[in-house]
Amino acid sequence: MLYLVPTPIGNLEDLTLRALRILREVDLIACEDTRTSAKLLRHYGITTPTMSYHAHNEARKAAELVARMEAGARVALITDAGTPGISDPGFYLVRECLRRRIPVVALPGPTAFVPALAASGLPTDRFVFEGFLPTKKGRQKRLTELASEPRTIVLYESPHRLLRTLDDLARALGDERPAVVARELTKAFEEFARGTLRTLHAYYAAQPRVRGELVLVVAGTGYRPDPDWPRDRAVVVSSYTSETTS
Ligand code: SAM
Repeated sequence: MLYLVPTPIGNLEDLTLRALRILREVDLIACEDTRTSAKLLRHYGITTPTMSYHAHNEARKAAELVARMEAGARVALITDAGTPGISDPGFYLVRECLRRRIPVVALPGPTAFVPALAASGLPTDRFVFEGFLPTKKGRQKRLTELASEPRTIVLYESPHRLLRTLDDLARALGDERPAVVARELTKAFEEFARGTLRTLHAYYAAQPRVRGELVLVVAGTGYRPDPDWPRDRAVVVSSYTSETTS
C-alpha cells in the first residue's frame, strides 16, 4: 500500500489528523528531503523510519520501494511541502505502484494552488493548473497558448523568476490582464497582491528583492473584473500589516 500524504506548506497546524495517524502507522516514510521532513516529523513526535525519494533518484528508489511494498510494507510518500505529485516527485512512484497492482491511497490536504485560487477573487469555477512554466524550450509556445485560455490560469513560480514571468505574461496576454500574486501562504507574512500583470510587475520591480514562495493566478481571456478591481496600481493585502498599497 502506498499513501500519498500532503504536508503543511508553511503552517505546521495544517496536517490532518488522518495524515498524522498514517505517518505514525506506516512502516516507512519516503521523503523528498529527509532533513526537511525531519523537522515536521520531530515536531509531531513521529519516529517512523524514513528514506529519500526525489527527482534525481526516483527510478532506483521507486524499484526499492515497490519491492518493499510487494513484501507487505506500508509506505507513505511525503514531499518538502504540499501534496505529493503536484509539481513535485510522486507521479513516477504512483505509476510504478499501479503497474504492480499496489493500491495507492491519496489523502486530501495542503497544496499551495488551492488557497491561492480560492482567495484570489478571480473566477474559480473553471481553471487550469499550469505548474511551473518552462524556463527555456517551449516557454514561448506555452505563453502563446495561454493567451487564448478562457479559464483562470494558476502558475507556480520562484521568487527570482517572478519579474521575468510577469513581464512575459504581460507581453503575451496583455498588460491589463487581471492577476494576483499569492505569496508566503499560511505563513506569518502571507500576502495577496491584486492588480494587472503590468501593475504587479511594477510593484515587485520596486521591491529591493522578492522573497518567499508564490503562486500566480491570472484571469482567463475575456474575463471582465468588477469595476473596483485594482487597475492603476497593485493593492497588497498582508495578513500581517492588514493593508498596504503601492
Ligand atoms: N507539492 C506542492 C503543492 O502541493 O503545492 C508544490 C511543490 S513545488 C516544488 C513548490 C512551489 O509551490 C513553490 O515554488 C511555490 O510556487 C508553491 N508554494 C509552495 N508553498 C507555498 C506557499 N507557502 N505559498 C505560496 N506558494 C507556495
